Amino acid sequence: MALTVELFPCLSDNYGFLIRDEATGQVAAVDTPEAGAILAALEATGWGRLDLILNTHWHPDHTQGNAEIKAATGCEIVGPEEVRRVAPLDRVVADGEVVMLGETALLVTAMPGHTLGHVTYRSGADGIAFVGDVIFPLGCGRLFEGTPAQMWSSLQAVAAWPNVTRLYGAHEYAASNARFALSVDERPEMAAHAAEIFARRERGEATIPTTVGVEKAFNPFVRAGGEADFALRRAAKDVF
Ligand code: ZN
Ligand code: FE
Repeated sequence: MALTVELFPCLSDNYGFLIRDEATGQVAAVDTPEAGAILAALEATGWGRLDLILNTHWHPDHTQGNAEIKAATGCEIVGPEEVRRVAPLDRVVADGEVVMLGETALLVTAMPGHTLGHVTYRSGADGIAFVGDVIFPLGCGRLFEGTPAQMWSSLQAVAAWPNVTRLYGAHEYAASNARFALSVDERPEMAAHAAEIFARRERGEATIPTTVGVEKAFNPFVRAGGEADFALRRAAKDVF
């Protein structure tokens, strides 16, 4: 594997991610929830440089560290145009583009629904995807800007990736998502999967990353019976 991922908690329920292309030593931060925590984590890795920030969407808990981290490291900030609403951005990326981190190619995919400009970054060679607030273990992002149809098609696009793809979502919401999943899925294997998630959270373990295969098997939003059923489930979860 050519890409190393360091995950660490930020704010109340975000994760920060630092990733390193082992071939060249180039380093990126995926989203910037908290400049201090990200710079401290960078220091702890000993990686000694930060080349890129990769923003997934404009929300402040994904962009508010951009300016401070750029000032501290001189990195280039890459993301969708919508980031400019709230934070500095050097290079706009859109669907189908590739961002190189050293020798690692990260494919940009538009995944509207949570926000209109949300993108994900995926290394097919490493089987790793940074999915921001599109999909979480047993959950998906709230529809702040997009329509149910947009989020449904974004989730279907994630489901079309190889099953082994590790999904790095940006929040720890798994326990609450598991409680909702249990309310709509009575299969014994769902109960067993939820029990495993509760146990991991009780031990203080992250439930990130999950995989495409696991979410296709258990995620109640991915498994909805279509766009209309997805819309009903998302609305039900909003008030669960
Ligand atoms: Zn968000
Ligand atoms: Fe977020």
